[in-house]
Amino acid sequence: MDIKRFLARIAHERLAGTAGERRARDTIVEQLTDWGVTHRTEPFSIHGFMPGTAAITAPGCRVQGHAVGLTESTVLTGRLVLSENPEALQHQRGAYRGCIVLTYGYSRRLSELVAYCGASAAVCIGGPDRRPACLAHRQHQYVQKTAAPMMTITHDDGLRLLDEIGHTVQVTIEQEVEPATATNIVATVGSPTIDQSLVYVTAHYDSVHSSEGATDNAAGVACALALLDEYRRAPPPRELRFVFFSGEELGLLGSQHHVTHNVEEIDERAALVLNIDISGDRIGTDFVHVSGTKELKGYAAGIIREAGYCFKETLSLYSSDGIPFVVREVPAVNLARSGGEASGYVHTPDDAVHRIANGNFATTTTAGKAILDRLLPAKVFPVDREIDESLREPLEKYLWALTAEKPQIAWTEKYKRPS
Ligand SMILES: [Zn+2]
Repeated sequence: MDIKRFLARIAHERLAGTAGERRARDTIVEQLTDWGVTHRTEPFSIHGFMPGTAAITAPGCRVQGHAVGLTESTVLTGRLVLSENPEALQHQRGAYRGCIVLTYGYSRRLSELVAYCGASAAVCIGGPDRRPACLAHRQHQYVQKTAAPMMTITHDDGLRLLDEIGHTVQVTIEQEVEPATATNIVATVGSPTIDQSLVYVTAHYDSVHSSEGATDNAAGVACALALLDEYRRAPPPRELRFVFFSGEELGLLGSQHHVTHNVEEIDERAALVLNIDISGDRIGTDFVHVSGTKELKGYAAGIIREAGYCFKETLSLYSSDGIPFVVREVPAVNLARSGGEASGYVHTPDDAVHRIANGNFATTTTAGKAILDRLLPAKVFPVDREIDESLREPLEKYLWALTAEKPQIAWTEKYKRPS
């Protein structure tokens, strides 16, 4: 498969629930149809938004930025205060009643912290030489009305606003929030000849708003499709299921929906998830982040070395679509290539396809193929369905931030496991 040609076709914003996502879905479905691969789509409902505009007007300047997703249209006036470290706000209850807080960077808890310190909105300054970050509130924050009005601005504009601290400024956000439908795409190759173990390859095809999401994750989708192309030509003796998720950038919405709606099959048969998120940088660092056991980390990293590459290996949670599977005790192997000229701009408009026009996709596809080539024909499935205990607390913390619900982790107690 021609990865670069495919990338050119999905080089557009693919925000979940918008026309851009539907266009990308059609492109992927068309590719599967061309190959004669049977597939199904899995629609799900979300709170979506049409990317809007945001501006801050101070006595001495007017600055434009991005509205944080799911912030609704509003006009707010207040004194501009600076709290460089957003985390500092948790020690300043009620200190900034009615103020507009200027912060450096972004924290997932920022909405909560804005409410805690009594401020009415937050303006997040980005890193130097980056365009304003393209962020969105979590779904539960919108539903529970805890999504503070927020916008992101560039570093240079942050510098200009330093002269306006203490002055009264106005924040104007225009953005439509509306119910929307997003769609996962599911395709299976191979047949359960050796056993019923089901191996997943997953990659999210949605992007953040206002970005082509080139390395994150058009490239990952292209790599997953390249793997699909290989295995449709030579079907493996175990089932290999590809899922192209939407809504990842809005909080793993597609993968959470998929796992919830296929939970019996996943509990019974899912053996491993190979998730690809971020690839394509010409110069970059390759990672294999294993959310499973130490043994699996050694196994996956060892196979990749056999294939000629030395990836940085971690035993960790990786914030992507593997997580809902890990909750069900299905280990996830996450491949990521990052740190270069395109992924360095991740979640900004500069994560653009032209930056990976001559990108490197071979490390990701070779590593993925090497791992699958060992797992799929193995006489006895080589990987345990087990997640290292050290990941439980980070997982609970992550799920809490994701859904604001008490985490329900379905791991078999140690004493019940075969030893
Ligand atoms: Zn991603």
